[in-house]
Amino acid sequence: MQGIAPPATARPCPSCEGRGATRIAAYSRDEWHIVACDACGFVYLANPVGYADLREALAWEKSYALKARKGGSSPLSGLNRRLRRALGHRGGERGTRVWTRAFASGAVLDIGCGEFLRPPEPMVPYGIELSNALHARVDPLMRARGGYCLKAPGAEGIWQFEPEFFTGVIMSSYLEHEVEPARVLEGAHRALMPGGKVFVRVPNYGSLNRRVMGARWCGFRYPDHVNYFTSATLRTMAAMAGFSMQIVNRANLWIDDNIQALLIKA
Ligand SMILES: [Zn+2]
Repeated sequence: MQGIAPPATARPCPSCEGRGATRIAAYSRDEWHIVACDACGFVYLANPVGYADLREALAWEKSYALKARKGGSSPLSGLNRRLRRALGHRGGERGTRVWTRAFASGAVLDIGCGEFLRPPEPMVPYGIELSNALHARVDPLMRARGGYCLKAPGAEGIWQFEPEFFTGVIMSSYLEHEVEPARVLEGAHRALMPGGKVFVRVPNYGSLNRRVMGARWCGFRYPDHVNYFTSATLRTMAAMAGFSMQIVNRANLWIDDNIQALLIKA
């Protein structure tokens, strides 16, 4: 770390709204400043781009293609895959299996739903998507199942649904992109019925791989990842929104590049 102040246009801490932050030089790149909040330790991009630019220039489908070309794994990723297999986990299926079991039947909302996850019947799929192209693809699929997809930023769209409307909310590879993560969690708490759950999957800034790989860790993406959660900072933000939290991949969390968690509304 280095005691250089983030730029004047920097946003406050997305978790505690503190204004003091210390730039992490090793993880900052070009004009993008990664900082740690002086008050609560939350790590975030101090100067994210606006929603309008995200909608087109940084749409998920483009940045995903970029990431796929760049790679960014390490020997630890291989070890983690073997550990996951030993624990009975199977790759990308796991997240879907977690929420299909955890959610009660009813209206299920996927925020950042570009890839339609097809919640099983009788769940009714709803979504919020910022990218024009992805919204156009997913909305008809959801309407055919009785739901629909709202074209909006997640932190705005979530407030447009009725209170206690959903049984479950999916935030898979979404919260790390959201410039207002606390607001979207508060909105999800309002939009969920009592006992409802949020499934969260975010890059794990607390992973051993990040410490080993440093700036080459696969979780760093400039500037489309704007929040870098550990299990502790995710738990804190979830608690402020009224949720308790269960880590899904607790056994191998220390070596996993992602955190998977269920947030539960009492
Ligand atoms: Zn903070």
